[in-house]
Amino acid sequence: MRAVLMPDHGGPEVLIVDKIQTPQPGPGEVLVKLEAAALNHVDLWVRRGWPGFRLALPHILGSDGAGLVAELGPGVSEWRIGDRVVINPNLTCGRCEFCLAGRDNLCRDWHLLGETVPGTYAEYVSVPARNLHPLSPDIPAIEAAASGLVFQTAWHSLITRANMRPGETVLVVGASGGVNTASIQIAKLAGGTVYVVGSDSKKLALADSLGADYLIDRSEEPNWDESVYRMTGKRGVDIVVDNVGTTYPMSFRAARRGGRILSVGNTGGAKFEIDNRFIFGKHLSILGSTMGTMSEFTAVFELLGSGKLVPVIDRTYPLEEVRAAHKRLEAGEQLGKLTLSIQ
Ligand code: ZN
Repeated sequence: MRAVLMPDHGGPEVLIVDKIQTPQPGPGEVLVKLEAAALNHVDLWVRRGWPGFRLALPHILGSDGAGLVAELGPGVSEWRIGDRVVINPNLTCGRCEFCLAGRDNLCRDWHLLGETVPGTYAEYVSVPARNLHPLSPDIPAIEAAASGLVFQTAWHSLITRANMRPGETVLVVGASGGVNTASIQIAKLAGGTVYVVGSDSKKLALADSLGADYLIDRSEEPNWDESVYRMTGKRGVDIVVDNVGTTYPMSFRAARRGGRILSVGNTGGAKFEIDNRFIFGKHLSILGSTMGTMSEFTAVFELLGSGKLVPVIDRTYPLEEVRAAHKRLEAGEQLGKLTLSIQ
């Protein structure tokens, strides 16, 4: 099969398209012929590598994917060859206390497809049968691939971790990324009032089209924490969705007393300084999470199927142009998801 191989860590130039042996589905696994994959920030972290991170090389990146069932491994009876499917990239044991409680993204043996095991930047991928979700004919493969990781992540963070309630105010820091465009939609669907701070008018126009109520252009209002404070009558917002990280000092100021700060990522970098006085002085809760549960994955795909949630797709590249896709994600130029079409 053709795949994007990563023979070593480094910049986008390390990615090459080459032919390798098609994987064989093991017991309980299904081989999926991929039609689409999507990029996520985790792909950049894995490609660059980090101290102590050891990976079997060459590696295949990619958490998100959708396509057709091509082959069944021993013991798989719930799928048929040709079924349209989208992949849930949470690889879990299915047996630990958290899996059994339906809190499977806390699995004690949790892995992310494409991070530590070969992923979806390829013509075929083999995954456990329980990681497949039937894909309605109404959802194109590209849209399904663009939705898998980000919608479950945003849903788990806002609805489960923050226990968001109708009428609450939500500030989303960043207007255009995959998780942020999903968060804006979910917060609106949950009956919230949504504030979005974005880096330019084009990105804010996208947030506007997704239903955001208040737009703040940080190129014109660099002290956007003060703007939020003023716009909320010196109260602050109930919830801040901040997946940048380095913006925490401003998010702390924009939150109300007792507010919740949500984190599912760190697009601004891994380490930064915070002033602890804000955390106790303002009774703030910092709620971290990664991905969502199997049932949340099902919930968001029902909402995607009925058109209540809509993936925002920036551009679709053929596998051969994966380096250009990575460069665009790295530059933060995208409006929504970057996807790969696989033929
Ligand atoms: Zn488990």
